[in-house]
Amino acid sequence: MSDNLVKKLTEYKDLSDAELKEIIETDLYDAELEEAADKVRRENYGDEVYIRGLIEFTNYCKNDCYYCGIRRSNRNSDRYRLSKEDILSCCENGYSLGYRTFVLQGGEDNYYTDDIICDIVSEIHSKYPDCAITLSIGEKSYESYKRYFEAGAMRYLLRHETADDEHYAKLHPEEMSIENRKRCLFDLKKIGYQVGAGMMIGSPYQTTENLISDLRFLQKLEPDMIGMGPYIIHKDTPFAEYKDGSLELSLRLLAIVRLMFPYALIPATTALGTISPNGRELGLKHGANVVMPNLSPVGTRKKYDLYDNKICTGEEAAECRGCLERRVTFTGYNIVTDIGNVRKYNNA
Ligand code: SF4
Repeated sequence: MSDNLVKKLTEYKDLSDAELKEIIETDLYDAELEEAADKVRRENYGDEVYIRGLIEFTNYCKNDCYYCGIRRSNRNSDRYRLSKEDILSCCENGYSLGYRTFVLQGGEDNYYTDDIICDIVSEIHSKYPDCAITLSIGEKSYESYKRYFEAGAMRYLLRHETADDEHYAKLHPEEMSIENRKRCLFDLKKIGYQVGAGMMIGSPYQTTENLISDLRFLQKLEPDMIGMGPYIIHKDTPFAEYKDGSLELSLRLLAIVRLMFPYALIPATTALGTISPNGRELGLKHGANVVMPNLSPVGTRKKYDLYDNKICTGEEAAECRGCLERRVTFTGYNIVTDIGNVRKYNNA
């Protein structure tokens, strides 16, 4: 019986809601899911693991998401912004270490106007034309997204976090809406970005039905990248008393997502490595094929604390790169120096 459900998901890349509920709510299928997910990732991407150099350039944010350590109401957050020169120096260091994708991530910080973002993006693009520039700077207008794209950004990460209206309203203040988040994601696709969406696993109030809505939304959006990690509490948020999401459920969802979206780029997230010492390795074994080591200056890393006890905040970029390479190789995969584009259209 269990064999049939995993086989069906592998073959049809889909299950009914009732079947998804069954597979999400039990550990009975976990071993088969892991095996099937790894097989599918190897069929599509071999043993390759892509590295993305993460540059967390501002921890200011105008939003107040209830789960986030850098939300605007957190007076304990030690705020910082990186200059264009700081960011370029991270890229220079990253390029010499073999990175061919730079991910510029930050809170929604109005200090960085569209002109400033475009200036930074176009300079990185002209200096490193063989690299992909990914932005992860939140909800913007269609026009702003278009300007960044024309300046040279080609990928955009914007997790939807939860596709369900009611659940979204429990995690965010009233001024934020899932409609706008979805509008942003479809705008980004329309403009031509490779788009990344995704959700937290085990966030407060989350039900199995919410997770199924997330999967249905991903089916509609067909994103190139799907980022998921366990929800982890931050002590200075209204959700400080809730529980962290579980490793098991996060890995189960990773494997399910790999089987539903064989083409996708899926990171083994830092959050996975934070809830378990070998969480990222387990993520790779459950279908993930991307890791995102930190290229931010060591002095600012602890300050980008979206959640408590985040790992990899003390090492230099070269140490992070070496550490991850060892972990990836030990797990049976291979880090490649490659721009690492999605293989959607070859394999769909
Ligand atoms: S989750 Fe993102 S948008 Fe929300 S407060 Fe944190 S940085 Fe800002």
